[in-house]
Amino acid sequence: MSHSDLFSLSGARALVTGASRGIGLTLAKGLARYGAEIVLNGRNTESLASAQSVFEAEGLRASTAVFDVTDQDAVIDGVAAIERDMGPIDILINNAGIQRRAPLEEFSRKDWDDLMSTNVSAVFFVGQAVARHMIPRGRGKIVNICSVQSELARPGIAPYTATKGAVKNLTKGMATDWGRHGLQINGLAPGYFATEMTERLVADEEFTDWLCKRTPSGRWGQVEELVGAAVFLSSRASSFVNGQVLMVDGGITVSL
Ligand code: NDP
Repeated sequence: MSHSDLFSLSGARALVTGASRGIGLTLAKGLARYGAEIVLNGRNTESLASAQSVFEAEGLRASTAVFDVTDQDAVIDGVAAIERDMGPIDILINNAGIQRRAPLEEFSRKDWDDLMSTNVSAVFFVGQAVARHMIPRGRGKIVNICSVQSELARPGIAPYTATKGAVKNLTKGMATDWGRHGLQINGLAPGYFATEMTERLVADEEFTDWLCKRTPSGRWGQVEELVGAAVFLSSRASSFVNGQVLMVDGGITVSL
């Protein structure tokens, strides 16, 4: 293997969950530019179709797979259909996630359950469904999207913080169980990036002021800046990296 090919994803098929917008869509486009064949997942046919047109407008191609990642039966069927109709899934980006904000003493049971099912159970459902196909092949890459909140708490999002801490440790567990089958499972932990999930924070000048002072790089991240880490963790360049979480956060988690 030549060093110039280390980051090539040519010939690999990547399933990206929650790819209708935001970080998922950006990572999907990034992997496509490095040669991967992309399957965009989402739970809404229309928003996936519009994500597909964003791809086409940029001269890229993607297939779609509509299923709700919190529905385990739908996940198993959806993954089986991709494997049957399109071919093997070599890379999974476990990205779909939600946010709910409220003071912890007022946090509702419904919001708690929604967070746990989307941010934790679904990472297990999709990871397990894909791994069952990868294990007999003896190879496969899974990238679980974690967060700075895997490490740090912020007011009003304690349950989200719990979910992202769980994803970090689930990543270690997946690597421990499936590494011996030739799989690599790592985490990618974004800091603060402007997407629909963070639009309230983006509009909050006081928050941005705090963030810029608190972050060594002194600014919000740009979603494109997550692509390099995702390509690294999806490619041969990371061939002996397993169970790690790569922080892409401008240094916020290492600085007081
Ligand atoms: P967005 O809200 O912009 O996008 C979330 C995506 O997940 C959407 O495509 C949404 O689709 C999809 N999704 C949600 N629930 C489901 C479901 N049940 N089944 C299938 N798809 C679903 O969020 P971001 O792009 O900002 O976040 C992506 C990931 O990155 C999340 O895991 C988030 O926790 C994490 N993250 C984000 C940070 C940030 O600063 N933005 C920081 C750290 C981590 P739909 O259109 O159907 O809602």
